[in-house]
Amino acid sequence: MISAVMPNYARTAFALIKGEGMYVWADDGRRFLDMGAGIAVNSLGHCHPKMVAALTEQAQTLWHVSNLYRVAGQEKVADQLVAHSFADTVFFNNSGAEAVEAAIKMARRYHFGEGQPEKFRIISCEGSFHGRSLADLAAGANEKHREGFGPMPEGFDHVPFDNLNAMRAAITDETAAILVEPVQGEGGIRTASAGFLKGVREICDEFGLIMILDEVQTGNGRTGKLFAHEWAGVTPDILATAKGLGGGFPVGAVLATEAAAKAMTPGSHGSTFGGTPLAMAAVGAMLDVVLAPGFLAQVDKMARVLWDKLGGVVAKYPQVLEDVRGQGLMVGMRCAVENGLLVDKMIEHGVLTVPAGENVVRMLPPMIIEESHIDEAVAALDKSCAEIAAGLKTEKTG
Ligand SMILES: *Cc1c(COP(=O)(O)O)cnc(C)c1O
Repeated sequence: MISAVMPNYARTAFALIKGEGMYVWADDGRRFLDMGAGIAVNSLGHCHPKMVAALTEQAQTLWHVSNLYRVAGQEKVADQLVAHSFADTVFFNNSGAEAVEAAIKMARRYHFGEGQPEKFRIISCEGSFHGRSLADLAAGANEKHREGFGPMPEGFDHVPFDNLNAMRAAITDETAAILVEPVQGEGGIRTASAGFLKGVREICDEFGLIMILDEVQTGNGRTGKLFAHEWAGVTPDILATAKGLGGGFPVGAVLATEAAAKAMTPGSHGSTFGGTPLAMAAVGAMLDVVLAPGFLAQVDKMARVLWDKLGGVVAKYPQVLEDVRGQGLMVGMRCAVENGLLVDKMIEHGVLTVPAGENVVRMLPPMIIEESHIDEAVAALDKSCAEIAAGLKTEKTG
């Protein structure tokens, strides 16, 4: 008989029932160091006092109002995002999938507004993940995610990641935009070469295309900058984000330049739940912490410590781990064994990690991580690798 909760996930046997800071507790009494942060969502860990205070206060004041009315929290948060990014304007919704979907719609609408509605195609990259709506599945590159859900919406072309020549060659008179992740997350924490985003920007400028960045996973401080593209010294026209934005509260956002958003006239797009006072209280509290002087520098510092120590474990167990990859606190380790085996071993040793494509195990810890937590995670990784390596040896000799 089918379970009451639809069985479309492969879940652990235990349930998580409580969280505090870097730790979560399971219903069987075990405590875990949370190096996955709900897949880059709990950006300030669990039940951060400032988040709890902001949400509690808002819960006693006003939860939801329609976007028929001005929403004070949206204005505050949009001002914060505009002040600290390339963007001139921000649209709020509820998830990464919706944010990317809205970004795609906006790129098409831009060309419509320019009197060129024939420009509707989006170029995206192999290995990318952009969410689970139909358009996002068409933009993403995972065949398995599309299986049985066709036909896909029309207008998406795929080129190899980190290949500017292929990108250039794919442009036609119908191309509207290029959509990329600065670091591919679900695809396996794949980074591009240093000049890639700059090259994408140049191509978009040359051909009059909208540059869309999917920073759903890379955004909101995770790489040590508020948004990952800041490292590359270029800015997009449109940026979709979500995951860490609400620090655990479901919220997404599309950031855009004035030029890219000028066709988004009243009634052109909308969301019932987008940008509720409750969600905005969460985002505002999250941004207050992340944008406070020194916070992102500390994220960068902790990321370097984590990388350094993970590198040591990778060097020690080449039969288990092949490399460390990523940016900031978005770290992947490519496994020489099946990645699920390492995720399970880490659970045995009290640490939560997240699998990704290319046989990678991800660490996406809360940005409040301290060196003691890094040492705890690295010790668990060392033990896990030692046990897996010993198992490989007995397999060979036995
Ligand atoms: C998670 C993710 C999405 C989808 O976000 P949801 O909130 O699950 O809809 C889209 N793009 C990227 C890069 C992601 O990591």
